[in-house]
Amino acid sequence: MHYRALGHTGLEVSVLSFGASSLGGVFHATDDDESIRTVRTALDLGVNFLDTSPYYGATRSESVLGRALRGVPRESYILATKVGQYNNGEFDFSAARVTRSLDESCARLGTDYIDLLQCHDIEFTDLNQIVDETLPALVKLREAGRIGHIGITGLPLKIFSGVLDRTAPGVVETILSFCRYELNDTALDSLVPYLREKKVGIINASPTGMGLLTPRGVPSWHPAPPAMVAGARRAVEYCQSVGADIVKLALQFCVVHPAFATTLVGTANPETIRENVAHIEAPLDFALMAKVLEILRPIHNHNFTRGRPENRDPIIA
Ligand code: NAD
Repeated sequence: MHYRALGHTGLEVSVLSFGASSLGGVFHATDDDESIRTVRTALDLGVNFLDTSPYYGATRSESVLGRALRGVPRESYILATKVGQYNNGEFDFSAARVTRSLDESCARLGTDYIDLLQCHDIEFTDLNQIVDETLPALVKLREAGRIGHIGITGLPLKIFSGVLDRTAPGVVETILSFCRYELNDTALDSLVPYLREKKVGIINASPTGMGLLTPRGVPSWHPAPPAMVAGARRAVEYCQSVGADIVKLALQFCVVHPAFATTLVGTANPETIRENVAHIEAPLDFALMAKVLEILRPIHNHNFTRGRPENRDPIIA
């Protein structure tokens, strides 16, 4: 496993990291004991960055992750969770709620300290509230030593500058972007110089596009329009036809980008995390990569967006 600096946080994170949304059963039914073995396997393989949220599986992801981490030395892993989004699409970024949320997450995760606390999917709220109320509350928690670092997450790329342009340097230390840098979409790349200038670390999530680039395909709630799903399917089927694994290619494509500190991939299966770590350590098949990128060209950077109208990215379809 290789490690990279997460922006200017001082944290060194594994280039492949563990996304725990799958532990909440958000993709398909999962077995908690198997989920726990998956986390332990990830740690054994050198994965040291774990990301969750109270939203995933309505707190189940955090609870299962907490059970998995029982007895594991706290300093051996970097724990990230989030505030502001809860079950049933409920959002509350008020200072009081995010402060209470930290305590609740800590109780479920069996710790009194979170390394990285992130505002979860800020496109669904008024960014003025994030800037004027939520982030100042998180800064107080950071000053009090309850959290190490502060981040923001979401789907539309415009939300990142929407917040970073209006906050003092050092307030927001990381962004987590998802589904905007994967085999079929490289839009996040255009933000790299800006984020570097802002001294903000980049976490790239969902290298398979939340299942788009997997043999299993997308879950029913997936927001991609049918043409995009069909376009991705063609690449999946091509890989199957030549006996190649599209997930391997998808992970390699993300992990080699030197500006992304880490790529978060989700699974609740110990064998799958083992496979994924092996994938990123295997040599890249450049001819296959070129062929798959060519198949995906018709849907390159096609996207979906969400959130408040003022926070949405323009749609390319
Ligand atoms: P992902 O691209 O990692 O896809 C996960 C899906 O891919 C699951 O169905 C999993 O079973 C499957 N998969 C993984 N490895 C596989 C393999 N080798 N073969 C076949 N299938 C495989 O998307 P994700 O789980 O949504 O994203 C990863 C993590 O990133 C999340 O768990 C979460 O921690 C984080 N994330 C955060 C946000 C946010 O903060 N707004 C959004 C998206 C993701």
